[in-house]
Amino acid sequence: MLAEFRNESYVDFSRAENKAAQEEAIKYVENQFGRKYALFIDGQDVKSDRLLKSYNPSDKEQIVGTFYKASKHEVDLAMDAALRAWEKWRCVTPRERAIVLLRAAQIMRRRKFEINAWMIIETGKSWIEAEADTSEAIDFCEFYGREMMRWSEIKGVLPFPDEVPELRYLPLGVGAVIPPWNFPMAILTGMTVAAIVTGNTVLLKPASDSPAIGYLLVEILTEAGVPPGVLNYIPGSGSEIGDYIVQHPKIRFISFTGSKEVGLRITELAAKRSPGQIWIKRVLAEMGGKDTIIVDSEANLNDAAVNVVASAFGFQGQKCSACSRVIVLDKIYTKFLKMLTEKTKKLTLGDPRDSRYYVGPVINQASEEKILEYIKIGRTEGDLVTGGEKAPGPGYFIQPTIFKNIQPGARLDQEEIFGPVLAVLKASSFDEAIEIANSTEYGLTGSVFTRNRCKIEQAKREFFVGNLYINRKCTGAMVGAHPFGGFNMSGTDSKAGGQDYLGLFMQAKSISEKIG
Ligand code: NAP
Ligand code: MG
Repeated sequence: MLAEFRNESYVDFSRAENKAAQEEAIKYVENQFGRKYALFIDGQDVKSDRLLKSYNPSDKEQIVGTFYKASKHEVDLAMDAALRAWEKWRCVTPRERAIVLLRAAQIMRRRKFEINAWMIIETGKSWIEAEADTSEAIDFCEFYGREMMRWSEIKGVLPFPDEVPELRYLPLGVGAVIPPWNFPMAILTGMTVAAIVTGNTVLLKPASDSPAIGYLLVEILTEAGVPPGVLNYIPGSGSEIGDYIVQHPKIRFISFTGSKEVGLRITELAAKRSPGQIWIKRVLAEMGGKDTIIVDSEANLNDAAVNVVASAFGFQGQKCSACSRVIVLDKIYTKFLKMLTEKTKKLTLGDPRDSRYYVGPVINQASEEKILEYIKIGRTEGDLVTGGEKAPGPGYFIQPTIFKNIQPGARLDQEEIFGPVLAVLKASSFDEAIEIANSTEYGLTGSVFTRNRCKIEQAKREFFVGNLYINRKCTGAMVGAHPFGGFNMSGTDSKAGGQDYLGLFMQAKSISEKIG
């Protein structure tokens, strides 16, 4: 009998032995920098004729690893392997598939400091953000493992006279899993293991900014017992091979998490039938956000300020759930802004290999340029309160930045920036605050700080987001408790980490046998 699901607890880095273990793991990963990584297709290392380099965003000349890159040829090899493997994998019992995930969770626990270290170095996560990411990956394995067992026991039908009706959940086939780099272990793992545990086989195209972490997951799942061909690792540029994968007639589903632009493109391409295609492709597309926190006049302001800072600047604002707008009631606007600014100015910024730093680099040069461009726009749309500059150092460091007096409809009010830039808006009433909050094309996360019960209930009714939080930060969804996914242009609302999620990777077959 399996123990009930519990979220993984975080390592306490204030303990000397944990700090030492994390430092040692960082050194271990640094010693791997010269490695060259093959693609992994049908249980074999495969080399191609082109290379992709992964860099450390804190030290942009530093190459974290070199990867062979898939072209159409390797996509075809992976597809053949996945199709063959599916014939066997779909017949493996749900229980056996689930146990593979439970083993993977154990391996991740064993290698936790190392997984953290890869994220600290390849994506610039602070220690605690990396630890939360690895813990969430473990949660996905533990949760979806249990969920698969639960789904396999669901009856799904009512009795019918003289018949024995049943409903079986079958896998879909070969799926493309296309994750982002920003939760390089957690989202990658969740998307991949959900597809596999339900009996599908996978073409995994990791994000080009975090291929090493993708490779690490493949290693872990292989050790956990995923058979050859079930998981095929094909790093490569999304703009080069993405369309080919998505349009492939044998792809049955695409599980994507990333930007709105790419998500919409995938949705559009997948909707068009390719020659030889005999099904409608299923698309899960979890996309961007313009996430908002409302700070009401009846809130605990200090608590609100602490949580806005964490939501806006944790991992440099590079979370789909990051707070990028705070709407403050005019009665407390000046007072709250002062508290917010003081706390933001205290944030430490630098290479997160050093555990003293909370804010690290943004992911790459294109991202840095885009964020600095938004800072320029912010200077014309509002008043700079703090930050506003690139910070010194060999990486893509940008100061945590706040603009006040941003008006509804401004670009800083409407567009996803995906960096450490926070827009502050003023509202004259709670009604108006909700109206501004709902005024973008997105609908991912949001939170409200107030002690007023009526306003809490109003927000629950009217604040239109997939993940609403009251009196807590708008980031940090926990597997099991906070199924995750957004409305409108934030995506298909697949609710990762929730009880409905695995159903999206299966199709139901209704069977009824007449008796007598
Ligand atoms: P992205 O640029 O859209 O990339 C996501 C993935 O799509 C990457 O693996 C990328 O490969 C691939 N890709 C790019 N072009 C493609 C194409 N034409 N066809 C198929 N795949 C293609 O997003 P990102 O910069 O990695 O991540 C940041 C975005 O993700 C933000 O908008 C954020 O809000 C969103 N996000 C949403 C959620 C959620 O749950 N809603 C969670 C996390 C992040 P390359 O890396 O090779 O370009
Ligand atoms: Mg990208």
